[in-house]
Amino acid sequence: MLRDQDHIFTNLSGKEPPFLKAAKIRGDWDNTKKLMAKGRERIIEEITLSCLRGRGGAGFPTGKKWSFMPKESDGRPSYLIINADESEPGTCKDRDILRYDPHKLIEGALLGAFAVGTHVAYIYIRGEYIFEAKILQQAIEEAYGAGLLGKNAAKSGWDFDLYLHRGAGAYICGEESALLESLEGRKGMPRLKPPYPTDMGLYGCPTTINNVETIAVVPTILRRGGAWFASLGRPNNTGTKIFCISGHVNTPCNVEEEMGIPLKELIEKHAGGVRGGWNNLKAIIPGGSSVSLLPKAICDKVLMDFDSLTDVKSGLGTAAVIVMDQSTDVLKAIANLSRFYMHESCGQCTPCREGTGWMWRMMERLVQGQAKIEDIDLLQEVAGQVENHTICAFGDAAAWPVQGLIRHFRQEMEERILTCQS
Ligand code: SF4
Repeated sequence: MLRDQDHIFTNLSGKEPPFLKAAKIRGDWDNTKKLMAKGRERIIEEITLSCLRGRGGAGFPTGKKWSFMPKESDGRPSYLIINADESEPGTCKDRDILRYDPHKLIEGALLGAFAVGTHVAYIYIRGEYIFEAKILQQAIEEAYGAGLLGKNAAKSGWDFDLYLHRGAGAYICGEESALLESLEGRKGMPRLKPPYPTDMGLYGCPTTINNVETIAVVPTILRRGGAWFASLGRPNNTGTKIFCISGHVNTPCNVEEEMGIPLKELIEKHAGGVRGGWNNLKAIIPGGSSVSLLPKAICDKVLMDFDSLTDVKSGLGTAAVIVMDQSTDVLKAIANLSRFYMHESCGQCTPCREGTGWMWRMMERLVQGQAKIEDIDLLQEVAGQVENHTICAFGDAAAWPVQGLIRHFRQEMEERILTCQS
């Protein structure tokens, strides 16, 4: 369990005000100038040493991503984009950073921008986060007022402007290249890669895109040292993480914990346990709707980090833990997700556009038991034709919940069909 002194987000529950005066008491903006005086390369080295992996879902090493940005400008400007388009079902971790600890993000934006050599950053926030956008804008304005942003930001000698941009509510705009399209004023549709954003991102210029939580932990890592962050969690899965626990638990919550905490411990210590006790557990989606659900037998032992969850063919994703007890119709739960993916597909590539609709219709038939046993294999085949055959990772995200259901609950699917036929 994470020790009190190792928490980064000390106002995650919103007990204190989010604004500058209280944020400074919590340690934000404490001699930011001194951190920047270490220089760009030293900051990237420290983040690399911390082994911080992106908190948006993919888990790419942040120091490595930053090192891809050009060391010298070729004449084009460059940009830092902070992805606050938090739309993954079950996920609300960035929401509470934006609401209650916005200065961690704003200070992190300055430090991150300095490290990648840019003077401009945009925060792209999902349209539905109206309250959060208001708080964040107010926090940005007070940071400008206090000389922490703008010309000679925080007296560092570095000019830095930070803009807040509100999205219009499409899930796919959380995909980084769709986000760039949207920010440029077009329909949010993913781009083919390469070129990657670090070569040709926003307005055709070098761009780094990071998640809110990734950027918000940067100031604390630089203050306490990369080695401190790396000492938490497990090798290659270091640091702390905000988990969002929802569903059939007694006290749903957002909580910061050490990476690699056992899933059972996470739920029992922080969410009051599964409704009706641990033995009443049926399945858990451990990382938001885009990863495979896990049956109780795996949940008993699995650790909550990138590698442990990949080993059991699921993923840490956004660390949104959705708990389902024995009363859950898992077929219906996954059918519901399939409908979501069908609705949110941008329609650009055929396997995703057509496949998501196929999967949803087949899942609906299975829920009603109006399918044949062979249809389960057909569903598996369709999911396999979507996975890895699309422009962006959305196709995989739509296929994996279905594949997970077949892998772990095939017997329940067959029983549903046989019961309805008899
Ligand atoms: Fe659009 Fe789906 Fe293709 Fe992604 S995978 S580009 S969401 S159609």
